[in-house]
Amino acid sequence: MTDAELSAQFRDFITCLNDQSWVILDAFVAEDLIHNGKPLGLAGYRQMFEQLHRELPNLHFDIELLIAEAPLLAARLKFDCGPPVSIPGLPESAVKVVLNENAFYKFRDGKICQIWSTVEAVQERQGDAAVPVPPRLPLMTTLGEDSFGSTDPKLMPPHFFYGAHQIVYATAIRADTTLQHCSVCPRHWYIDAHFRCADCGADILWSAEEQKVWFETYRFWIDSKPKHCRNCRSKRRDLITLRQEYDRLIGAARSGGTTEQKTKIVEIIDALEDQLGSIPDKLKETRDMFQKQIDKKNLQEP
Ligand SMILES: [Zn+2]
Repeated sequence: MTDAELSAQFRDFITCLNDQSWVILDAFVAEDLIHNGKPLGLAGYRQMFEQLHRELPNLHFDIELLIAEAPLLAARLKFDCGPPVSIPGLPESAVKVVLNENAFYKFRDGKICQIWSTVEAVQERQGDAAVPVPPRLPLMTTLGEDSFGSTDPKLMPPHFFYGAHQIVYATAIRADTTLQHCSVCPRHWYIDAHFRCADCGADILWSAEEQKVWFETYRFWIDSKPKHCRNCRSKRRDLITLRQEYDRLIGAARSGGTTEQKTKIVEIIDALEDQLGSIPDKLKETRDMFQKQIDKKNLQEP
């Protein structure tokens, strides 16, 4: 890559971050990314930015300075956090905080494979000159373990219970965050929460005790949430099994299969229709075709 191509690639990368186009992040960042000397990887880097955008919904990156000398690139970025917001780990919420990142990026095959980054925070009070904030570096430390509602369950980031129609704070129990599987933001508390099943709308109580087992024993990813009620979960499992059985049998049944195989296919399609309420016309045609063949065979046999 030439220096100009490297600059263009970096500008596209910043656009990707600002647009939150995570699905194309792998066009800019290598799988084995090293960040400030530690292996972070593409997945870890993506999680870090998803987290940042959740905490700071108005986040926008501007390039202030950019120098490219392939395969290295140096940039000073300004993070505009939008209107005054409360940033976890930084004092006072009534001030506007501007973050500046000074970073070096190393590229390999057009992708960032290494980053050396420091972040400086500046508080801007209305009418006053900018007042420097003691730096907390790097950014991942700024958004660190000592925030995210560690002292009060009501201060936990709302995305942990996004979609809940009732949260019962009174039942909150302390979490052991050392047992959790997370990148930046742990769950300090487990709290009884009520959700609606995405399929049937039934109420799901996701209890604090259940969450403790999910996140500390089974080590589910910390952002996980229940989507379906127990009934719909088992229905879905049945559907998956039926679908797998259909895929396994359909080839043989079509190429001169036995009456037994064809009967099984008809049964599976009937069960699918029963579960789903309606099925695609193609599937109905397949069932009718096999049913005709079975009927014909039965007529031929004495
Ligand atoms: Zn349901």
